[in-house]
Amino acid sequence: MAAMTALNAIALLLYTYHIENLWPSSSPSLVDAAYLVSGAAFVAGFALLTQTKLKPVQVSARLDSAIAGLAAASVTGALWFDPLLHPVGSPLSVFVGMAYPLSDLALLAVLVAGWVLNRHRANRPTTLLLMGASCWIVGNVISLHQRVTNTHASEAFVVSTLVAGVWIMGLAASVRDRRRLEAPHPGAGSSLISSLVPVLSGVISLVVIAATWHGLNRSPIVPLLAFSALVLVIVRMWIALSEESDLVTSTKADARTDALTGLPNRRSLLEQIESNLDVDGLKPAGVILIDLDGFKEINDTLGHLAGDELLCVVGMRFQSVAMGRGVLGRLGGDEFALVSATNSEHELIGIAHELVATLSGPYVLDGVSIRVGASMGVSVSSVTGSTSVELMRGADVAMYEAKRLKSGVSVYRTNNDPNSREQLGLLADLRGAIDARSLTVHYQPTLDMRTGLVRGVEALARWDHPQLGMVYPETFIPMTERAGLMPQLTRAVLVQAIAEASRLDRAGYRLQMSVNISRYDLLDGDLPDFIGRILSLHSFSASRLTIEITESSLGSDPDRAAQCVRSLRDRGIRISIDDYGVGYSSMSQLLDLAIDEIKIDKSFIVGLCSDSRAEAIVRSAIELARALGLNLVTEGIESEEVLQSLRLIGADIGQGYYIARPLARPELDDFLAHSGSANGSWPGFVRLPATK
Ligand code: C2E
Ligand code: CA
Ligand code: CA
Repeated sequence: MAAMTALNAIALLLYTYHIENLWPSSSPSLVDAAYLVSGAAFVAGFALLTQTKLKPVQVSARLDSAIAGLAAASVTGALWFDPLLHPVGSPLSVFVGMAYPLSDLALLAVLVAGWVLNRHRANRPTTLLLMGASCWIVGNVISLHQRVTNTHASEAFVVSTLVAGVWIMGLAASVRDRRRLEAPHPGAGSSLISSLVPVLSGVISLVVIAATWHGLNRSPIVPLLAFSALVLVIVRMWIALSEESDLVTSTKADARTDALTGLPNRRSLLEQIESNLDVDGLKPAGVILIDLDGFKEINDTLGHLAGDELLCVVGMRFQSVAMGRGVLGRLGGDEFALVSATNSEHELIGIAHELVATLSGPYVLDGVSIRVGASMGVSVSSVTGSTSVELMRGADVAMYEAKRLKSGVSVYRTNNDPNSREQLGLLADLRGAIDARSLTVHYQPTLDMRTGLVRGVEALARWDHPQLGMVYPETFIPMTERAGLMPQLTRAVLVQAIAEASRLDRAGYRLQMSVNISRYDLLDGDLPDFIGRILSLHSFSASRLTIEITESSLGSDPDRAAQCVRSLRDRGIRISIDDYGVGYSSMSQLLDLAIDEIKIDKSFIVGLCSDSRAEAIVRSAIELARALGLNLVTEGIESEEVLQSLRLIGADIGQGYYIARPLARPELDDFLAHSGSANGSWPGFVRLPATK
């Protein structure tokens, strides 16, 4: 473009010089040469500027420039330049004579092409170029007209248009516009504007043909040009139609591909699942959902470009594992998924672990070596149900489980999913059972380890489900907590347990009653009063009721917990710290609480005889309890060996399957009839082996 401007300036200077000194100038002259070369340079420059660096452009858009050129040639030929089409003179002067209109036609063609390629709304520099070139064409056309008609009246005007054209084009170099040139986008620019050039050209060509018919022009070239333009218009319209359908297909493909990684996107993956599954859900499908760990931090510290690069590399590593075993895609963000036609959890877990393994190598981003991990959720159609939505949701739930447990890979299970259809149904049943007070309570006896007498029982809630049979607390307690039904459950158990204890009293068994409460009950300010009312209703002594609070539930709100404990103790109720040793309460917190009993967690007791460390912990707990004047309960006694060791170490109270399982009321009666204090000690209580 700079060359063009320089040449053009030279040509203008020469031209002025000729006008001043050598009038009339010889034709063809040096001026002609400079002008024509500068015109060629401009056409080449403009074409380079607008046509390269673009994605493949639609053929129809390219044809527009040829059509406009032909139509313009035909109309100008018909109106003004008939003499040009019948040239006379030396070959060189004929050539130069023809070169001017032809270069203008070429200019017009690249202008139209540039305009069309800019989606009919060019950016600022391009608009200025277009304007400058238009000035130029106007000047050239007038100049040509003068040449043909041999009048030189508007010479000054011609020169001003040429100078203005060059000046405006120079201006184009100095303005900035951030908008980049882009290939015409599907749907961008209305089809009305995009058909403007061919339609207008077609109409002009028709008019020219009609005019020639009526004898306006005798040259056969003019109608030929117009006719060619018409043929091209038809060809162009036909190509545009087929491009439209190509566009639809490629848009469809685009809509199924993730732009960053080139992998299938969410929509494509869902379709893949649907095609793997069939209507009856007989054909299996499985999904591995992958979520990178700590991706956001990488994005935030190294920037989005580095993040994008990481996603691409990770995508490629995953792809190398996924190849031939399923379809890998990116769901968006840092989430990937693999859709497989297998229903085998085992197989999918294997693939998931391989996917985790491919991440283990470091990545170098921005010169920084980083590592990235991932959490994966596996779901199979036989568990989740057989729609793509259910499968994806299942994998999502499992993935969050994996994130929560930091386990890398996790498999979907309906009972870990509070929102699964089964869990929701179960929750409705549970609500009904709590309302109808149909939850039952089983009682597990505790033994005085020195005397062998039954000391008390622990109330453990049970749910006898009409279809599922006996449901245990590990299933329904978390559900109850999530549903906010814990206060109702606790009260129901307390009512039954205290009633049972007073019934046993009447039967002649004076036992301790232990009841578990949850972390939520510690926040329930009305609970102590409620317990007080039940106790007085049954005239049951508060000192024979022990409330068990798990060590872990103390942590969430220590002040409220301490307050609740104090208010229970003020009424004379005993407090026991359950599952001692696995929670995170500090020793100072335990010392602050006024408690009566420590119940060491059964995990230390079960392995007592085989694990010396467990024994050390139990010993230290016993010493601690002794030093603080607390009772120590050891739960989880499953064998005689453990029972005897605990007696030797000096535990106060024992509980466990070896002594008795949690028992329903009739079984408890039976147990007490054989081991109750009325009949001496528990029969399993044998003499301790002689110690050295
Ligand atoms: P926990 O308070 O630690 O209760 C002891 C659990 O250990 C009981 O399980 C019992 O059946 C079991 N167990 C007893 N002896 C042995 C043994 O020798 N070996 C082994 N391996 N286990 C033994 P269960 O009844 O399934 O209760 C589980 C947990 O559910 C309880 O643990 C308690 O935290 C909670 N829970 C039970 N009932 C209630 C309740 O009414 N309210 C509240 N808030 N929680 C309850
Ligand atoms: Ca307990
Ligand atoms: Ca326990």
